[in-house]
Amino acid sequence: MTIKGLVLSQKNFGENSKFIDILTEQGIVEILVKGSKTSSRMSKTSSASQLFAYSEFEFSERSSRNRPQILTGVRPICIFYDLRKNLSAVALASYFSQIVLYSALPESTTPEALRLFLNTLHFLSEPEPDELLLKAIFELRIAALYGFQPDVVMCRKCGNYLPSSVRFPVEEGCFFCESCHAEGILMPSGALQAIRYIILQDFEKIFFFRLAEHCRKPLADFAEQFLQYHLNRKFPALDYYKKLNITQGEFHETI
Ligand SMILES: [Zn+2]
Repeated sequence: MTIKGLVLSQKNFGENSKFIDILTEQGIVEILVKGSKTSSRMSKTSSASQLFAYSEFEFSERSSRNRPQILTGVRPICIFYDLRKNLSAVALASYFSQIVLYSALPESTTPEALRLFLNTLHFLSEPEPDELLLKAIFELRIAALYGFQPDVVMCRKCGNYLPSSVRFPVEEGCFFCESCHAEGILMPSGALQAIRYIILQDFEKIFFFRLAEHCRKPLADFAEQFLQYHLNRKFPALDYYKKLNITQGEFHETI
C-alpha cells in the first residue's frame, strides 16, 4: 500500500523504532517505522519520515487488527528543510498538528485540510515568515473545515455591512457595530474584511492579502479565540509557542 502524507507526530517505540501519525487525504494514518534511529542505510527513511516531512509512504497491510502497519519504503516529496531553522515556526506548526490530531476532521474535508497544512508550512519555511497572519489564516480556515464559520455578512442588529469598527463576540459567531453591541473583540473594519477574505475567498488566494498594522492583533485574537471556543480544548503547543515568543521578545528588548 502507498499513500502520500504529512508527518504530524512521532513517538519512540522500543529502542530503535517509532510510530508516526501522518495526515493523508483519507484521514490520519499511524505507521510503525522500524530501525528509525541507528543504521545509516535508514538515513533517507529518517529524513522522509521526520516531523513535518511530506512523503509517499509504502507500508504493509495489517496482519490483524491489533497489529501496526509497518513502513516498508518511503520517498520524500517535500521535507520543508528550512522550517527547522526557525524554532518559533516549528512550535507553530506543532500547534497546527495538535489541532488536527486532537479533533477529528470530517472525512470529506481532509483533502483540503492537508492542502491548507502544506501551504501554510510552505510559507512558514520562508525567511522571516509572517507567523501572526499564517496562524490566523490556518485557524480560521481549519475552523471552517470543522464546520464552524463565523457569520460575516452584516451587523446582526442593524444590518450595516461595513461599520467603521465592530464588536465580534466569538460565542455568538456574528458581529455588530460598535454602537450596537458592547461585548466581544473590538476591531476596525479592516480586520473584519480580513476575516471575510480568509473564510470566503478561493483557497488559492487566501495567503495573499495586505493588512494594516492596527488590524493585525484583533484579527489574530479573534481567529485564536474563535477556534478555541468551538473546539473547546487547550493545546500545549500553543502555550509553548506563546512562551517562546514572549521570551524572544524580551531577549530582543534587552539587547
Ligand atoms: Zn449595527
